[in-house]
Amino acid sequence: MPPRRKSYDAIVIGAGHNGLTAAAYLSRAGFSTLVLERREIVGGCCVTEEIAPGCRASTTSYIASMLRPTIIRDLDLGTHGLRMVPCDPALLVPFPDEQVVPWWADQERAVAEFGKLSPRDADTFVRVDGQLKKLARYLQPFFLEPPPDPGRQGAEGWFELLRVGKRFREMTGEEIAQLVSFLTGSLGDFLDRNYESEKMKTMFLANNVYGKHGGPYDPGSALGLLFHLLSGGDGEIQGFYGHVIGGMGTITQALASACLKLGAEILTSAPVAKIDVREGRARGVILEDGTEISGRIILSNADPKHTFLGLVDERELPRDFRRAIAGIKMAGPCAKVNFVLSEEPRVHGMPGDFTASQRSLFTLVPSLEFAERCYDIAKFGEVPEELWVDCVLASNVDSTLAPQGKHILTTFVQYVPYQLREGTWDEKREMLGDRVVKKIAEYAPNVPNSILARQVLTPLDLERTYGLTEGNIFHGDLSLEQLFFMRPVAGWAQYRTPIAGLYLCGAGAHPGGGVTGAPGYNAAHRVLRDCKLGRIKTAHASGAAQKEAK
Ligand SMILES: Cc1cc2nc3c(=O)[nH]c(=O)nc-3n(C[C@H](O)[C@H](O)[C@H](O)COP(=O)(O)OP(=O)(O)OC[C@H]3O[C@@H](n4cnc5c(N)ncnc54)[C@H](O)[C@@H]3O)c2cc1C
Repeated sequence: MPPRRKSYDAIVIGAGHNGLTAAAYLSRAGFSTLVLERREIVGGCCVTEEIAPGCRASTTSYIASMLRPTIIRDLDLGTHGLRMVPCDPALLVPFPDEQVVPWWADQERAVAEFGKLSPRDADTFVRVDGQLKKLARYLQPFFLEPPPDPGRQGAEGWFELLRVGKRFREMTGEEIAQLVSFLTGSLGDFLDRNYESEKMKTMFLANNVYGKHGGPYDPGSALGLLFHLLSGGDGEIQGFYGHVIGGMGTITQALASACLKLGAEILTSAPVAKIDVREGRARGVILEDGTEISGRIILSNADPKHTFLGLVDERELPRDFRRAIAGIKMAGPCAKVNFVLSEEPRVHGMPGDFTASQRSLFTLVPSLEFAERCYDIAKFGEVPEELWVDCVLASNVDSTLAPQGKHILTTFVQYVPYQLREGTWDEKREMLGDRVVKKIAEYAPNVPNSILARQVLTPLDLERTYGLTEGNIFHGDLSLEQLFFMRPVAGWAQYRTPIAGLYLCGAGAHPGGGVTGAPGYNAAHRVLRDCKLGRIKTAHASGAAQKEAK
């Protein structure tokens, strides 16, 4: 379908959940908005796709934890079909000795369970959990606002200092020290300092470094502990973990439906080949089929490398900026393998009285040392023999995904290399799939013979199919040097870019990856504020935009 107009107030490149979020807020402010998606479906890496006839899976992202409650409410996503069911237990780790440890959502129940591992650790858990939740609450407001801007001068600089200071004014000296230690320290050291049971430490590991480079003893790896305690779900629960009914694609279907209701236009199978830049200003886009569409504002939901090194002519960008973008650490360290099974995995040691939903997730990683060794192997370009595999048996919670008698198992593999030392991912794809099956079989021996279909997504497949440069699931590693005012690169963390009228609205911008909607929300609000300040002129109902920007 060709676009309905020749010119729009805003063109969003990419219909990932962030692009759709930005488009919804801009449409709501009265902008004529067009979303262009290269794939035949919307959603980016927040999708539900058929992996065998009649069987659907969240092929990429698979658990909703940090989707901002403000966005769910503002865009009324519930009425557009979004329904999330809290994961309880939030985590479950079966160990090689067949002990199965659940982390129940209810704190009292969790403490009773951890007390079986170590009474001392159970007490520590209450103290540390309280500390972590308090620290996470200080960081939370930064999610839905731009990061601090250290480059501001004069009155603007003072205003910026006040904005940031206000967020931390109630922090004690002790809490500041704790925060610095979480931002810079390692998860492993933190756990070794606080807990005695190796199993207890593994529980924390089972969730906190996914998608990132670095083993649990790498500096900065403790930060995940705080990120995962941000509130989520429609009930604003701290540390929320949710299954989305209909798979993760329900989120982006709901966002797309909200966009359409607000008047936005969405075109799929419409890959953008170039951003048209003249005299330092973005004027529109050119599709791969040659169609030219003008836009007063262009927002890119594509990752920073693809946006600036792929879609913009190199003569239009300062050399230092291009160099900084080229230097962003990507090299995605994970993969995904999705299965259709004829029977549910029977995990050794799984208590017989657990309900289907209580059996719906399990993480296969026996210890911190195992994880550290796994990263060491992957960082030198090899596929570890022994993999860390996170499993979600989505069909145990959601009967819409597969016909009765069939089961959807989606597995996330932490620590594989993007760049292989030898061979190619096309040659090694099935080997990766086999290693995942072997690992699962150690815990649930019935799985190999129950596989009806298997889809292996290597880092290369994540790049090819989902458009993630170097297969990085977060549009750039979530390490401290690539976060806050350093995301995507220092000096350009306010969603604006060196090209007037071109904004970044995806996970490559603050606060980063994960299904949060935050970069899309923040970028849209940046655009609205810039309109109000007269930095950009649009033909939209400016009164509405000004009201929205407040
Ligand atoms: C395997 C995997 C597992 C994950 N697990 C989780 C999880 O369980 N929970 C969680 O919270 N997060 C998870 N994540 C991370 C999370 O899904 C992403 O960080 C997030 O979805 C990124 O959203 P986005 O909208 O910024 O970008 P994307 O989802 O990447 O969307 C960008 C869109 O832009 C399109 N595009 C790119 N270039 C062009 C172009 N030239 N023209 C037109 N369109 C273009 C792409 O096709 C894509 O649709 C996972 C990601 C992956 C890949």
